[in-house]
Amino acid sequence: MTVAPSAAATRAAPAARPRDPDILATIGATPLVALDRLFPPERFRVYAKCERFNPGGSIKDRAARSMIEHALSTGELVPGVSTVVESTSGNLGVALAQLCNFHRLRLICVTDPRTAPQNTAIMRAYGAAVEVVDRDPESGEYLPSRIRRVRELLRSVPGAYWPDQYGNEHNARAHHHTMREIHEALPGAPDYLFVAAGTTGTLRGCAEYIAAEGLPTRVVAVDAVGSVIFGPPEPWERGHHRTIPGHGAAVVPPLLRTGLADRVVKMTDLDCVRGCRSLLAEESILAGGSSGAVTAALLDAAPGITQGATCVAILPDGGDRYLDTIYSDSWVESRFG
Ligand code: PMP
Repeated sequence: MTVAPSAAATRAAPAARPRDPDILATIGATPLVALDRLFPPERFRVYAKCERFNPGGSIKDRAARSMIEHALSTGELVPGVSTVVESTSGNLGVALAQLCNFHRLRLICVTDPRTAPQNTAIMRAYGAAVEVVDRDPESGEYLPSRIRRVRELLRSVPGAYWPDQYGNEHNARAHHHTMREIHEALPGAPDYLFVAAGTTGTLRGCAEYIAAEGLPTRVVAVDAVGSVIFGPPEPWERGHHRTIPGHGAAVVPPLLRTGLADRVVKMTDLDCVRGCRSLLAEESILAGGSSGAVTAALLDAAPGITQGATCVAILPDGGDRYLDTIYSDSWVESRFG
């Protein structure tokens, strides 16, 4: 008696299945939404690139993935062996904590008291060690103290690796993709890009894409009052202690190149509050401090923006971690009256 081969036996061997996406595959491809209520479209259009939709909640997921995966590919980082050490005001720490946990790397984050307690708690939940430093007695800033502590750890911890977000080209390179996503989501190139500057990774990556593609996009860099990124502070800025983390820096980032921005604007902490609260009231977007600065910069620039222009604002994170500051009436009142 002959037995017919079963259907399974006659079927061709299945092709190897592509790897299913893991959580890190959800980094990027963030939504670009219209801000038609805050900026009436009859004059010009404004779109917001909402980076809070990254799995770690901020734009820094892109930079963290780019820096860590490059170091893994070169063997500078070895899973189960290496310890990543980084200075971060919060968002990069969360992003690195997620990446390091995923790739079985130890992580020590050096932060300062401006870091939102929720950020610290999230870093610890992912298994990171968190150290908090005080202001540098000379400059009154936190960054010099953070960098000093990172250097000490690099000397004392075996297998320590410093991504160095302020100088790492792979931080900037991650944002070629950010700008590509913006470009591809719109019918044409935007006329203006408003981007917050901290390490200047986002600014440089977006500006490099714009230059490489020959786009006519004008780039407005949004810095913080008191920051030194684009030059020494004016006399009136001295003594302005920034309390809202994210944009602005107390050092000139080695990543910065001349000519990346067509214009630089410096915003105060109160501008951050103004922008955030406008986004919330008009657009129902609960955004972070630097998003408020970017939005306030756009509101201020509105009279000079040409009729029919398309503007894009990058909103680096969400407002959940600013509930005790920007979205707290008592904090705003105690700070600004
Ligand atoms: N906004 C927020 C909330 C951030 O965390 C950062 C990164 N420190 C920035 C803006 C600045 O981005 P970049 O470091 O790419 O200049």
